[in-house]
Amino acid sequence: MSLTSVQTALAAACARAGRSEASVTLIAVSKVQPPDRVEAVLTSGHRSFGENRVQEAAGKWPDWTARFGAVDLHLIGPLQTNKARAAVDLFGTIQTLDRPRLANALARLAQERGACPDLFVQVNTGAEPQKAGVLPRDADAFVATARALDLPVIGAMCIPPDGADPAPHFLMLADIARRNGLPNLSMGMSGDFELAVELGATHVRVGSAIFGERRPG
Ligand SMILES: *Cc1c(COP(=O)(O)O)cnc(C)c1O
Repeated sequence: MSLTSVQTALAAACARAGRSEASVTLIAVSKVQPPDRVEAVLTSGHRSFGENRVQEAAGKWPDWTARFGAVDLHLIGPLQTNKARAAVDLFGTIQTLDRPRLANALARLAQERGACPDLFVQVNTGAEPQKAGVLPRDADAFVATARALDLPVIGAMCIPPDGADPAPHFLMLADIARRNGLPNLSMGMSGDFELAVELGATHVRVGSAIFGERRPG
């Protein structure tokens, strides 16, 4: 596919769901892609991107934003507490808030800076032991904890288990967001972003369908 074909498919999914195109942000996931592919998408005017490693992103984006102008950059991979400072310097949105220790670190940085990136709580909807994210049964309490720290929690994010039907995971995330008053839902990747839009996604994270397959490793 390509950026244009993903945009076309996304617009059609919005139309089928009776939603406006403006209600869904397409995040182009640029992790480990060759620079020329990312620069082509920047040149086309696209401005929302996702990265899953702080260090990798810090090595690429300051140069790109100097050349192409500001972008809307989302952290979509796990965040170690000792990288929180670098992350808040670089990202406008952190989608992977998932534990009290990280919430405390972000709250301290927010105090110090008088500003904080927008935050999504990552929910491990499949309760997979190896995967980041708060467990579904702990989600409500964790959102309350983050809010008590005055953190700007604006949404929920999930990555369904590999090979599973994503629909029940998207529905579970939408339910968690609704009952916690979170207006944004980050769900849907290259293989399932149209379904995610049907089930209420406000942010879809699409990598390989825009840029091509990532190189292995
Ligand atoms: C890599 C990644 C994506 C994009 O995956 P594709 O299948 O290439 O679209 C989306 N979300 C997260 C959290 C990722 O790490």
